[in-house]
Formats: sequence, structure tokens, C-alpha cells
Amino acid sequence: MIIYNCRIITWGNTNQILENHAVRIVEDRIVELTNQDDLLLRFPEDEKIDAGGQILMPGLICAHTHFYGVFSRGMAIPREAPADFVEILKKLWWPLDQSLTQEDIYYSALVCIIDAIRHGTTTVFDHHSSPGFITGSLDVIEKAVNDTGIRASLCYEVTDRGGAEKSLAGIEENIRMIKKLRQQPAGSRVMAMFGLHAGLTLSDQTLELSRKEIPDGFGFHIHVAEHQSDEYKSINQHGKRVIDRLETHGITGKNSIFVHGVHLDGKEVQTIRDTGTWLTHQPRSNMNNAVGMADIESALRIGIPVCLGNDGFSFAMWDEWRTCYLAHKLWKRDPRAMNGALVTQMGAINNAQMASHFFNDTIGVVEPGAKADLILVDYQPITELNAGNLPWHILFGFRDSMVTLTMVDGKILMKDRVIGGIDEIEVSQHALEISREVWKRYEQQF
Ligand SMILES: [Zn+2]
Repeated sequence: MIIYNCRIITWGNTNQILENHAVRIVEDRIVELTNQDDLLLRFPEDEKIDAGGQILMPGLICAHTHFYGVFSRGMAIPREAPADFVEILKKLWWPLDQSLTQEDIYYSALVCIIDAIRHGTTTVFDHHSSPGFITGSLDVIEKAVNDTGIRASLCYEVTDRGGAEKSLAGIEENIRMIKKLRQQPAGSRVMAMFGLHAGLTLSDQTLELSRKEIPDGFGFHIHVAEHQSDEYKSINQHGKRVIDRLETHGITGKNSIFVHGVHLDGKEVQTIRDTGTWLTHQPRSNMNNAVGMADIESALRIGIPVCLGNDGFSFAMWDEWRTCYLAHKLWKRDPRAMNGALVTQMGAINNAQMASHFFNDTIGVVEPGAKADLILVDYQPITELNAGNLPWHILFGFRDSMVTLTMVDGKILMKDRVIGGIDEIEVSQHALEISREVWKRYEQQF
């Protein structure tokens, strides 16, 4: 297949914006990126997509999300509104995840993936929790991923908040999925990690057992220091700050993802860098939970390739980029803070590095040999667009609704804004029906 008549944003280490170029895709990969006329002449038999002057670029990547939380949209929290992050966990997320059945898990994943495809997000790192249906829950999400064709990393959120039995079931679910998915051929779209909630709901025994059970070469996906309660509970109960404790248990390392890190101290940030652990930033969630802002610019400056996730917000990832750009300026009361190029460094380059590392392939760049995870964006610049000023065109001009085509592994999942093989209205109507029951089960816990 050849996609032509487009302006190509390559991302990668040296971002370029190419004119009069086209890409040739064979099966799941980009095999050529070269002069358009030459490519069209050499492969007259290939299927062609005329992009009509749109922008062709790598699909967006979400470094941390929770499909399971989507039915909270518009849901009322009974009685007094939660006053801090721990109350939000206790009054919103824990009674909600407790309310999910097998069917809810499938549909919450499905509606999130549809949202992702529609907004050009082609790779996601999910972190799942459903204490009422643990064993097999990751198969249900895997089915939604396979039914739609997106690229996804899956894990189950182990926690001790539901007692030893559920904690063990969570550990087993992660191990089972890791072992199942590692049998797949190289380059597969779905992979598994080991999910842990956060230090504040995990005992030393559970961390030890998790470390003991995880197969070699795999790592953990865990929230760290999202709120100061995580740090203070760790100091008071274990005599160590969050990252020091996780390092003691062997949870750090290049195969692990640490999420948020809002309340880390300098030593903890250094440990994350020195151990090569991935750190993700979710400013929309941090603002919504009023937990504060992580000093992301400092983390980038000392060499941590910070990535951007959505923590359950929409998969319109450019909204997350924009929020990042704006939030840090307000937080520091300095319009020079969080330069646009830093945002694209995180959202495009670092996220691509993280996805390429975990999926053990080349993802998030337009170059020969890379996975054909691509989108077309119907953006007509009204001012000069070049590789240097691209971040500001994205931050001020791109809208996720401009995505007209989404491709993963060389397969077109959405074309001309129509998602193939899925009746979106039917899915929405069914989600609406079953979410009413989720809300009822949620309310019964108060
Ligand atoms: Zn999260």
C-alpha cells in the first residue's frame, strides 16, 4: 500500500517534515519513505491512498491509562464531595472498580479503544482493576484489543486493600497473562506487564512475592507518590520514602513504569534516572485530583525520558499535551516554563521510545522498518509550518477531531472518520445500558 499526496511528519531523533514524499507499507511495516513520483512509478500495482494534502504522521501513544474507569463519566458521588486524593480513591475509584462485571470490563475497554482510534491514539498502556472479577479480566480486555486492532500493554492492579485472597488472585492474573502473551511471535500488538496499585496499598510481603513471581525480563507498572499520603504512609510504616522502598524490593528498572511521581524528592528522582525506570506524567489527572504538579522539567533536565499518559481522561492525547504546556506555566507563574518543544519531546519522542522498548519493535516514527502505526490529520496550516515550529502548530492548531485515518500494524482501523467493523452507536447504547447497573452497584456500597 502507498500513501501519497501528504506532508509527512516523521518524529524520531531528527524530526523532519517532508513534502513530495510517500510511504510504502507492506503488511505491518513501513518499507519505504521516499520521493512520491518514484514510489508511484515503481509500484503501479500497489493499493493507493490519496491523502489529499493531509498530514501523515505516527499514531499517538498513551503511556498510562485505566480503561476500567470510563463509566464514572457523569456519575454522582453520594453525600459529601471527596476533599482529597485518598477520599477520591475511597469514594470514587474503589467502589467503582468493585462494581465491574465481566461484561462491564469488555465494554469499558471497547469504548475507550473506540475513543483512541477516533483520536489517532494507536498504542496504550492500560492499568486494570476489577476486584469483583479478577481472574480472566485481562483476557476480556485482550479480546476488546483484538476485536478492534489497537496496540496495547495490559496489567492487573495488585493491591492489599481487598485482603490476601484478592491480592494473590491479582498476582496470579498478571503472571498468567505475561506467560500467555510471551508465547506470541515477535512484533505482536498485545503485551503484558505486572500491575501494582501504589505503595500505600501494598504490604512488603506482597511486593516481595510479586518480585519473586514475575518472569525474567518483565517489569512493573505502578503509581508512585501521586499524593503526599503515599510518601508519608511509606515513611511512617516502612521507614523509607516510596522509591527507596520500591528499589529495596527490586521494583525499579528499565522494564518498569512509574506513574505520576508528583511528591518525589531529589534522591528519588535520581534513583529513577539511575535505574532507567520509566516515568509518566498525567497533568489533566493531577489537576483534577488537585495533587500538585511534578517538577517534570527538572526530571527531563537530569535525563529521565518522561512520557505522557492520560490516566483515564480522553484519548485525545493532544489535549494532554496542551494541558501539560499550560499547567506548568501557571504552576510556575512563568510563561517560559514548559517550552513547547519539551512537550513534543515527551508526547512524541519519549513515548515512542517507551513503546518501542516494551513492544520490542520500532514504534512511533515514520521510517523504513518501523511499524505502520499511522494517522492522517486534516490540518491546513495558515502560517509557515516547519520542523522547528511544529510543536506550536500542534499545541495551538491541531485538534484530535482532525484525525481522519488511523492505522495500526498496517491495518486501517478508521478511514474518512469511519471505524470499520464496529457499530459505534450500538456499542454506545449498550454501554449506556450496562453502566446504569454499574452505577446502581456503586451506590449500594454507601
Ligand atoms: Zn493511574
